[in-house]
Amino acid sequence: MTPPRKLHIKSYGCQMNVYDAQRMVDTLAGEGFVETASADDADLVILNTCHIREKASEKVYSELGRLRAAKEEAARSGREMKIAVAGCVAQAEGEEIIRRAPAVDVVVGPQSYHHLPELLRRATIDGRAIETEFPAEDKFGFLPQPKREAIRARGISAFVTVQEGCDKFCTFCVVPYTRGAEVSRPVAKIVDDVMRLADNGVREITLIGQNVNAYHGEGADGRSWPLGKLLHRLADIPGVGRLRYSTSHPNDVDDSLISAHRDLPALMPFVHLPVQSGSDRILAAMNRKHTACDYRKVIDRFRAVRQDIAFSSDFIVGFPGESEEDFSATLALVTQIGYAGAYSFKYSPRPGTPAAEMRETVSAADMDERLERLQGLIDSQQSAFNKAAIGTTVDVLFERAARNAGQIVGRTAYLQPAHVMAPPDIIGQVLPVRIESLERYSLLGELAAPRDAHKKRPEPSHITIGA
Ligand code: SAM
Ligand code: SF4
Repeated sequence: MTPPRKLHIKSYGCQMNVYDAQRMVDTLAGEGFVETASADDADLVILNTCHIREKASEKVYSELGRLRAAKEEAARSGREMKIAVAGCVAQAEGEEIIRRAPAVDVVVGPQSYHHLPELLRRATIDGRAIETEFPAEDKFGFLPQPKREAIRARGISAFVTVQEGCDKFCTFCVVPYTRGAEVSRPVAKIVDDVMRLADNGVREITLIGQNVNAYHGEGADGRSWPLGKLLHRLADIPGVGRLRYSTSHPNDVDDSLISAHRDLPALMPFVHLPVQSGSDRILAAMNRKHTACDYRKVIDRFRAVRQDIAFSSDFIVGFPGESEEDFSATLALVTQIGYAGAYSFKYSPRPGTPAAEMRETVSAADMDERLERLQGLIDSQQSAFNKAAIGTTVDVLFERAARNAGQIVGRTAYLQPAHVMAPPDIIGQVLPVRIESLERYSLLGELAAPRDAHKKRPEPSHITIGA
């Protein structure tokens, strides 16, 4: 019997890449590959890359430099190591990768992972293989299902891709070019995936897509279903305790999604809704096709049906032409909304996007200073939100043993990590926890007697949040 070959895969960037990495592992399991934690003893190393900001792309090339040395070392000891670059850098840069890093054997774009076994064979024969087309067939029809043991090993929370690509063309963003046009998977396929996950112990499903609430997959009735209707269907699957979705665009929040938040207890009251800027002038230059006021109205629609709902967002500072006044509008919006957390990034010009051609750039010093102010405001809101949990009883889905002996860690509805001293058999259960203290971003508490469970945490809109 031939020994299994070792696969090391390193993912950068978004949740979609985490999911894609798992599907590549599942695909290569059929070729006799098993995962290894170290690149040095691997027969195949895959870098699953991110192109969203320059820093993310450049990391890949420095990692490839290290891998070249590991590959040469393997060759000296008579072992072959193959290197593959997957993900959005692969899609955007294609042959340029091989030119800059000749040790790379395979370059594969995000729509072609199902061709990986074939590409590896081609690389063995021809020296290298590159595939960055958008193939006519849908990769999901060809990617094998994960084995039961693999699902169990990945824990009680899983991502499921329901939608890929984006047709929005925000002027700063590479996604429409690297991931292609918006495509939604049919409802039946998603239901099959979720049933299989739930049958194998997964309790929390996060539906993912670059623009997940633009979902419009074909339903059993032959019609196109919106995300809200899909969520209703998935909530009926036994074993699915929690549902989430990410990432959403404010313009695609429709009534079906709002109703899902009103009607489905399994749908967690925590929504990631990127706005990018609070300035209408900058939003227009970004081609976001909404104003700050439109965004606030969307938030109000969610809050009208679910008072305990909380939000996170993405912001870009230093978009070309952003004035101090524009930036103040962003701070004002953040103060008005009151977030449970948010990501903020310095604008990074991406080759091929319209914003990269814009002349009115913001200086590095101004960008740094604005980022610091924005992050300070967001941090203060996040810590107010977390502190407000102290003294309340909240539901926690327990995920795994924590680093400290005897502690088990789980997540609240708002994805806050929560630690308790408890036996490991609570893993996989949603239990009420009385929150006693906060240590950085982690809540610490005790399992509450079920009779405590009715005591609700204060609604986020009642929590004092501000600069
Ligand atoms: N589809 C989502 C949306 O509509 O906002 C987000 C997709 S993108 C993978 C994640 C985040 O990266 C964006 O929300 C944006 O804040 C940030 N981002 C995208 N392009 C960027 C750029 N050129 N410079 C800095 N940040 C960027
Ligand atoms: Fe990029 Fe999101 Fe805009 Fe699409 S909607 S172009 S993924 S930022």
